[in-house]
Parts: sequence; structure tokens; C-alpha cells
Amino acid sequence: MMVEAHSKVKSGVQSGTDITSSGLYSQEQLGWLKLARQFADNISIEETMASDKKNEFRRDLFEKACQVGFGALPFIKDFGGKGGDYTSFCLVNEEFARRCVPVMSSVGVHILCQEPIYRFGTQEQKEKYLTHCSSGKHLAAFGLTEPNAGSDTAALQTQAHFDSATNEYVINGTKTFITSGASADIFIVMAKISGEPHVPFPDLKDGKKDQTITAFIVERGFPGFEIGQKFDMLGMRGYSTCELVFTDCRVPAHNVLGQPGQGRKVALSSLAKGRVTIAAQATGWAQGALDALLKGLKDQSKDMTPEQLVNSTEFAQVAAQIGELAIQVEAARVLTYQAAATVDRGAADVTLAAMAKITATDAAMKVSTEAMSILGMAGLKPELLLERIFRDAKAGQIYEGTNQIQRMLIGRDLIK
Ligand SMILES: Cc1cc2nc3c(=O)[nH]c(=O)nc-3n(C[C@H](O)[C@H](O)[C@H](O)COP(=O)(O)OP(=O)(O)OC[C@H]3O[C@@H](n4cnc5c(N)ncnc54)[C@H](O)[C@@H]3O)c2cc1C
Repeated sequence: MMVEAHSKVKSGVQSGTDITSSGLYSQEQLGWLKLARQFADNISIEETMASDKKNEFRRDLFEKACQVGFGALPFIKDFGGKGGDYTSFCLVNEEFARRCVPVMSSVGVHILCQEPIYRFGTQEQKEKYLTHCSSGKHLAAFGLTEPNAGSDTAALQTQAHFDSATNEYVINGTKTFITSGASADIFIVMAKISGEPHVPFPDLKDGKKDQTITAFIVERGFPGFEIGQKFDMLGMRGYSTCELVFTDCRVPAHNVLGQPGQGRKVALSSLAKGRVTIAAQATGWAQGALDALLKGLKDQSKDMTPEQLVNSTEFAQVAAQIGELAIQVEAARVLTYQAAATVDRGAADVTLAAMAKITATDAAMKVSTEAMSILGMAGLKPELLLERIFRDAKAGQIYEGTNQIQRMLIGRDLIK
């Protein structure tokens, strides 16, 4: 019965704004949305649930996603980019999240990692890494967080020491909670350079504690690189999330991304757009939770026509609550696509991205929580995907900058 519920969602039926006929999106943007729907249609609910239950990454689906073009969608056509805009990428992410497509987060992080290579990479780095990323031959992961450095990125303890004899950096440290980590082929890794770099640090400012943070492109096969603990998490399962361990890991100096000491700038440049991606995903979760709630209510009242259901005493008790949830979904969507539009105008706005990320992830958390309360035990059935969205939404409030920290940064920006 619930499988049928999912297949109805599959056909593109959804509550709230009908994206396809709203007139807000171009034919090209809607073309990407259509491709995302077709992609999701080819994944059965059983496959979706299995990846979550077994905590299993679907490399085959990732490669298929790249073949369609999702893995390099918002990049210029050089090096395999698809020339789409960020709004299109957000529409794809919203659709993937709404349907809990098992590779959604890995595709998001894959784009997050390519972004700084397009922006800061050398011609050699672009040719070597981006071409394989766009084709799906390589999966990329982003290594910033450490056991003692989450929100406070300046507290990074991973060290990189330059060995002039071999023209390599020697990296030591541990990264944690890295999405796609156990399956990825290349990693953008942030480390602090101890001692002298291979070229002088630019822009040294006295008293800046993060002035030595540097971005490196690390390949899975580099000596001294290992996958550490794999995490069996509450939410965002099936994404190979794990620790990365560097023990005298040797990385050629030409794999520094940007300049030594520019790591924070490199990381922030991707995370600003990354938060818009998370906002789109969370809008999809919120929409998916609302869809599941409406479908669940109809399933519970099978003997009634929609008119009878609307006029029933039971529905009267929850009508306003459902209306409130729908408002939150739409508010998340509006802010998300406003943030995406600023990216497309070349004026990515960190504050707006943070607002969208907070609004959408909080909406996803609220809609999924309240939908389960309204449906009771029926809301907990995994086939409905509601409890899955609830678990994933919790993670969304935490990663790529916790919502609490993002609120503080918005406040600070306003004062500045
Ligand atoms: C599913 C998942 C996937 C992830 N994927 C990646 C990845 O691919 N790459 C990566 O690098 N990282 C990844 N992360 C890590 C993520 O970015 C961090 O979890 C996040 O930055 C928060 O850090 P933390 O967990 O150490 O929490 P902490 O920083 O320890 O924060 C704990 C709590 O304290 C609050 N807090 C912290 N500092 C302050 C302060 N100064 N003032 C007020 N409140 C504060 C926070 O808001 C939070 O509520 C992932 C995390 C999750 C859950």
C-alpha cells in the first residue's frame, strides 16, 4: 500500500507550488528537473530503502548520475562541465531529496569539491581532476572537519610540513564525518602548514590564527593515506561517511589548491554555494514530508471521498496545522531559489545562503516531525520515507555549518 503511495509521488504529484507551471523557471531549468524526475523514477522504493538500511553507497547510481550530467551540472563546459546554472542544480537537488534518491548527498559534495578546483586550480589540476570528476570516474570528498575542529575550523590540527628534498608535503592528522569518504577517489583536504611552505605565504596578517590553513588535493592512492572508522549514523546513511587518516601522507607540492595559506578562502568559497545546495535538498525533504503526510491521511481515510475527508471532524483538527507546514515549505523554497538566483547572477551572498539553509533545514525538521505526530504509527513506516526524511533533516541542521552558528554569523554580518 505504501509502495503505491511512493509511486504516486514518483509521478511528480506534489502539494504546494507546481514548479513546472509556475512560470518561474526557464525551459532549460525545467529540462534538468525532468531529468532528475526520470532518474528518480528508475530507482525503486526497495532500492532506496536498502541503501539506507544497509548503509550502502551506490557507486553505480553515482556513475549513472554523472552520465546524465548531474555530477558537473553547474560548471562551464570546459573539462566536462554541463553549462547549467545553479538554479537548475537546486531543482535537481530538491527533487532528489523529495524522493530520497540514494546518491543525492554524494553528488552535492562532488560539486562542492569541484567548485574550488574550477576557481583556484592550475590548468594541470583542472585537466587531471575535473575531467574524471565530470565523467563519474572519480568521486570527490571534502575533508575539513576534525575530531576537535567542527564549527571552529581555525582549531584544525592536521599539519602539513614541506619536504624540499622531494618537493612534497608530509601531512599528519585525522578528518572526521567525511561524506563519501570511504568511496571517494580524490579529497580536498584542509591542513595547517608548519614551517616554510614551498612558495611564500601571501597576505600574512599578524595575529590571524588561520593564516597557515592550506587546501590540498589528495588522491586515494597517495602513500600514508587511509580510511579510518566508518560511521553507522542515524541519518544520511549510505554515503560512506568516515574518518580519513593521514600518517606521513606524501602529497606533491603541485597538489596545493590555490596558494599556501589560502585554505580558508578556498573552503569558504565552496561552502557559500554548498549551503544553497543544502537549502534545496532540505526544501525537497520538507516537500517530501508534506507529500507523505497528505498521502498518509488519504490512506487512513480510504472510505471517504476527498470532500468527505475535508469536512470530517478529524481533518478539521489538523487542517490549520497542515496549512502552517505548507507555508514553511513554500517559505523555504522562496528563500532557496532567491539564494540560487544570486549565485547565478555572480553575486553569491553568504548571508542569504545561510538564511536559506537554516529556513529549509528547520522546515524539513518541523514538517517531518509534525507529519509523524499527525499520522501516528503509520508515519513511522519506512516505505513512506517520512521517518527517513526526519533522520536526514536532523543531519541537515548540523552539517556545512550548524544552524546555531549560521544564525550568529547572520547577526554579525548585519552589524558589520
Ligand atoms: C551527516 C554529516 C555529514 C558531514 N559531512 C562532512 C564532510 O563531507 N566534510 C566535512 O568536512 N565535514 C562534514 N561533516 C561535519 C560537519 O560539518 C560538522 O558536524 C559541523 O561543522 C559541526 O561541527 P561539530 O559536529 O564538531 O559540532 P560542534 O562545533 O562541536 O558544535 C556542537 C554544538 O555547539 C554549538 N556551537 C559550537 N560552537 C559554538 C559557538 N562558538 N557559539 C555557540 N554555539 C556553538 C553548535 O552550534 C552545535 O550546536 C558532516 C557532518 C554530518 C552530521
